[in-house]
This record gives sequence, C-alpha cells and structure tokens, in this order.
Amino acid sequence: MGNTAWNDKKKFVWILSILLLSAFLLTSSISYRVAHDSLSEQIEENTLPLTSDNIYSEIQQDLLRPIFISSLMAQDTFVRDWTLDEEQDPEKLIRYLREIQGKYDTVTSFFISEKSRNYYHSTGILKQIQDTEPDDAWYFRVRSLPESELYEINIDPDSADSSRTVVYVNYKVFDFEGNFIGVTGVGLAVDKVKKLVELYQKRYNRHVFFVDREGKVTLNGGSFNGSQTLQDTPGLDKLATRILTSPSASLSYVRDGKTVYINSRLVPEFKWYLIVEQEEVESERKLLTTFWGNLLISFLVTIGILIIANLTLGRYQRKLEHMASTDKLTGAANRQVFEEYFEKALIEASENQTSVSIVLLDIDNFKRVNDNYGHSIGDLVIKTVTNILRNQLREHDIVCRWGGEEFLLLLPNIDLSHGADIAERIRDTIAKRKIRVNEHELNVTVSIGVAEYLPNETPAEMINRVDIALYQAKEYGRDRVVLSQ
Ligand code: GH3
Ligand code: MG
Ligand code: MG
Repeated sequence: MGNTAWNDKKKFVWILSILLLSAFLLTSSISYRVAHDSLSEQIEENTLPLTSDNIYSEIQQDLLRPIFISSLMAQDTFVRDWTLDEEQDPEKLIRYLREIQGKYDTVTSFFISEKSRNYYHSTGILKQIQDTEPDDAWYFRVRSLPESELYEINIDPDSADSSRTVVYVNYKVFDFEGNFIGVTGVGLAVDKVKKLVELYQKRYNRHVFFVDREGKVTLNGGSFNGSQTLQDTPGLDKLATRILTSPSASLSYVRDGKTVYINSRLVPEFKWYLIVEQEEVESERKLLTTFWGNLLISFLVTIGILIIANLTLGRYQRKLEHMASTDKLTGAANRQVFEEYFEKALIEASENQTSVSIVLLDIDNFKRVNDNYGHSIGDLVIKTVTNILRNQLREHDIVCRWGGEEFLLLLPNIDLSHGADIAERIRDTIAKRKIRVNEHELNVTVSIGVAEYLPNETPAEMINRVDIALYQAKEYGRDRVVLSQ
C-alpha cells in the first residue's frame, strides 16, 4: 500500500471526525442555549411576575386597611377639635380610641399630641413621650417626615403572638390651618401576608420578602435565613441599586453555581419592594442532562461513522490496489507488479546465493483459436491456461500476464533443471487438457523458454535470454521447452 494513500486516509478520517463532532457539538449547544433561554425567559417574564402580582393583589387589601383606618382617624374632626380644645376630658379621646380598636379589631390605637406630648391609648394615657427616650424616637421621626409624606409604616412581629405580623401606621394629624398637631394610628395584625409568603416559599420553592427603599429586609417568611439587607446578600449586592431604583425589574444572578431568578416590584403604599426569588429549577438540570446525553450519542454516532468509513475506505482501497496490480481478464499479476517482484527476487538471490528461474510461455497458433472460435473463446482459453499455471505452481511463485497470450513466471529458489521440470510439467498438462466449448472440444499447446539467473545479470538481460529460448522453442516446432544455457 502506498504511504500517501495511507496518509490521505488518516487525514480524511481526522477531518471527518472533526467535522462531525463540531457539527454535533454546535447543534447540541445551540439547542441547549435555545431551551435554556426560553426557560429563563419563561421564569423571568412570566412565572415570577405572576407570583408577584398574585401576592401583591392578595395582600394589598390587608396592607391598605391600617393605612385607611389611620387616615380616617387623622381626618376625624372630633380628634382635631378635641386637640385644639386644649385636650380637655381625655376620657373622650380614650373612648374614641377604644371604639376604633373594637370596630376594626386592631391590636392597638393611639394618638400623641404635639402640644402636650401625651401618649393617648385605648387603655388610657400611657405616658408623656420624650425626645431623649429612644423608644419614642419614632414620633420625632414621623414629625420630621417631608411634607409630602403623611405617614410611616412599621411592620413588626406581634409581641403577644409571634406567628402574627403587625402593621403599625403612624399618621400625621394637622389642624384646619394645616399645622401639625400630633400623630395617630393603629396597629393591625396581618397574618395573611406572612401566610402567603410562607405558602409561596413552601409550594413553589420561591423565596418572597420585602425590602424598604434602603434595601433593608422588612418582612419575610419564617424560614428566611438571608441577610438583613440586599447590600450584604452575596450576589444580590450587585443588583441592589438596580432593584431599588426601578419600580419593577426582572433579573438573575448566580448563587452557589446556580442561577437565581429575581423579580422585584415597588409596593407604592409602603414604598417597599416586594421581591420574589427562584432558584434554577429541576427542568434546567434536565436540560443539562439532555445536553450531555446528546453529546454522548453524537460521540458514539461519530465513532460508528468513522468505523464504517474506515472499513469502506479500506475495502475500496484494497480493491483499487488489486485492480492496479492485476490483469482484469485473468487476475494474474501485471507487468509493473512483476518487475517489482522480479527485481526484489534477483537482489535476494544474489545476497543469499540462491537461485531464481523465470519461465516465458506463449500459446501456440493462438490466432487460429480466435479465428475459428471467436474472441471470447480465445479469452476462455487464456483463462484456462492461467488456472493451470496457478495449479502447477507454489503459493509464492508469481504468474504474470506478460502480453496477449504470453505469460512470464517467476520461480524463486528454483534452479534451471528444476525450472525445466516445472516447465515440462506445465507444457504437458496444457497439451493434455481438453477445453470444452459448447459441443466442441478444443486443445492448445504452449511453447516455453526457461532461464536461471546468472550472477551480475540485469533483469532485462535475463528476460532477453528467456525470450530467445521461447523463440527457439517456436522455431523448433512449438509445444516444447527450451532452456537458456
Ligand atoms: P505463435 O504460435 O507463433 O505464437 O502464433 P500465434 O498465432 O499465437 O501468434 P502470436 O502469438 O503473435 O499472436 C497472438 C494473438 O493473440 C494475436 C492477438 O489477436 C491474440 N490475442 C492477444 N491478446 C488476446 C486476448 O486478450 N484475447 C484474445 N481472444 N486474443 C488475444
Ligand atoms: Mg502465440
Ligand atoms: Mg504471442
């Protein structure tokens, strides 16, 4: 086999495998990307915003109720008249507060007068608040809120029942001229919010929480184990500014190697952000498994194709090589191949001091066969002679179709007398063989020249000698063997 042919084949196999593998890799990656993107999009654009909408609409009423009640109290003419009227008969206001508490089922209801600094509660006057007292700081904070902000909201666990959350609203009260005269409000238990947050957490494995405009976590589910602010939550810290500066956002970040999708929306009544988070989901893992599965299949298919290509190429190549080295009609070696073997055999013989003989054989009066029986019968005769030659020779002897009906045999390790015997046996076998053609029987004879390799002789010189021997065999009357001495 030619070295270039082998290299070509190797190159072809390499190119084929690289092409196939990169094509498979490309298609798998693209389909993975597309599926992944549509999944992310689905979560970011649909699932989380819908969750957020649902939560918002369900809790909105709950959260708005205490604001509504407090605003009602702050607008109440009785409260304002009573305050302006020097806060006489505190029992009147206390009764009012008690009624509010009873009617709306609040946890607490209160009024603080700016003038007296008295803390009126549904149970009486609790105390006088002081700007040096840390517990009373909230009052002074509300008092100094910008003009446009009428109230402040605090959410705290209920001190009596920690499973409940209490929304406290501190509402500014103004007199009829718009002067600040105090702060009123209620605390209302909202168990629905917490329940909702936990339901979403449990059922959908989504994390729901609220942060204020500074990023501080204000309300979250019971199992919340995150940080106290967005800014000190790993991953979220980089998104904090984006969340806190837009009314709504769909974002994602990576936490522990997993993508976390996040949706935020501003709850305007509270000036808080409702945040819904969801980790990379099961289907995403499935996508990845599918991706690797695809690659494995692609790899196996590539190997399969390579094996098939290799076998096919090998078979094709062997066939080509055979076609190039043998005669089509008889399957005997052609001249070119013979010359290669011949040269090798002569070198071997002179190195090892062994003998080599060649035999040149020509069918006698072959033109007549063609003339009498036609060309295809002539072909049949040539094939028959080839078969006889093969049968009479050893495995490693070379039979070459030298010309039309002329054969040259290469017999390694055979000296002249042995060569003569073989030639004689061949001649005899052919002469005796009857070739059946339709109803006729036909037989041919051959003339043969034999030569043994002489030291320092060239291949051409040796062939020339055997040619002369054959010529003599014809001259002497055909159907005979002549040795080149
Ligand atoms: P001689 O005894 O002197 O060899 O006589 P011959 O008729 O055999 O003469 P020669 O060897 O010169 O003629 C060979 C003929 O063989 C000539 C050609 O038409 C015929 N021949 C050559 N190749 C083929 C072949 O492949 N098939 C057939 N049918 N005939 C062929
Ligand atoms: Mg002839
Ligand atoms: Mg001839």
